[in-house]
Amino acid sequence: MTLIITAVTPEYCVMGADRRLTEGGRVVEEESSKLTVLVTWDARTVVGYTGVARIQDFETDRWILDTLGSLRTQSDSIHTILEGMRSAASDAIQKLAGCGQKDLRLSLVVAGFIYQGDAEEGRIWKITNFEGAGSIPGRDHFKILTFVPKTPGESLLVAAGMTHAVGKDQFEALESRLREGIPAFGAERKLCHIIQSASLNPSAANAIGRQCNSCVVPRATSEKITSVYYSDSISRNVYAVNAVLRGDIWAGGLLQTGASSPPALVPKRRRNEPCSCGSKEKYKRCHGAMEFPFSPMFFEVQRTEPPIPPSGSKVMVLCLGSAGRAS
Ligand SMILES: [Zn+2]
Repeated sequence: MTLIITAVTPEYCVMGADRRLTEGGRVVEEESSKLTVLVTWDARTVVGYTGVARIQDFETDRWILDTLGSLRTQSDSIHTILEGMRSAASDAIQKLAGCGQKDLRLSLVVAGFIYQGDAEEGRIWKITNFEGAGSIPGRDHFKILTFVPKTPGESLLVAAGMTHAVGKDQFEALESRLREGIPAFGAERKLCHIIQSASLNPSAANAIGRQCNSCVVPRATSEKITSVYYSDSISRNVYAVNAVLRGDIWAGGLLQTGASSPPALVPKRRRNEPCSCGSKEKYKRCHGAMEFPFSPMFFEVQRTEPPIPPSGSKVMVLCLGSAGRAS
């Protein structure tokens, strides 16, 4: 089980998830990409999941990427792909149901904007076999729950997975910041901070990792989709999310930075304490001065149509910014 927090405002969609995988309560991986960017002709979305991650030879992250990739070759409409995922999830879990494992709960969260003519509408969908009224946990019957803003200008905030590890006041604080119109990079930082705090909550039972990815999908198609990696340990490594785009499947992974460059990510310190990167500077003058102290790097997904990228080409652009977001 993981923790996914998703917000859709009139201007952007942001999703954050931790990167830890557990199997039977044991940590099996700290750096798994749980988010996948999905772009179709009528939607720009990000897909996350919570629930079963590894069971026998079933690997949920790989299954999502493979299934989205295969559905994407059959249809280019978000609604057809959502229905295809619902049906494929039911089939996949049905096959596992025979293996005697108890916990087969799974929720896919899909969020972003659908484009119909000149109108863009924010949406969050959950494809789930255990959430919502009347669900029987672990069963092979998945349904699609749709979240739509009730009034124009309203924001949606949906959490999935280990939400009990997050204080109610933290959700309320985020909600009020969203209402105030917090910019996307502020929202993603806040959201990943909530996830990292939740990982320390004893009720998270070690199931939430300290490393996170966030993904921002702007409403305006002229703006690029971006992703940020957050870690609270000293790291020269940055990890990217997955992407299923027109003509391309991209399994996100390690984006290595130069060995001689300063660490991309360092643990936070008090302002006047020495920076945790070892530079002997005060934190406030070193990594604390960066707009993204936890994650000065991000990548951008360019809009994929038109033109259609040639098969096999990569549409990811890695931007190595040391002090915040390029505009
Ligand atoms: Zn530093």
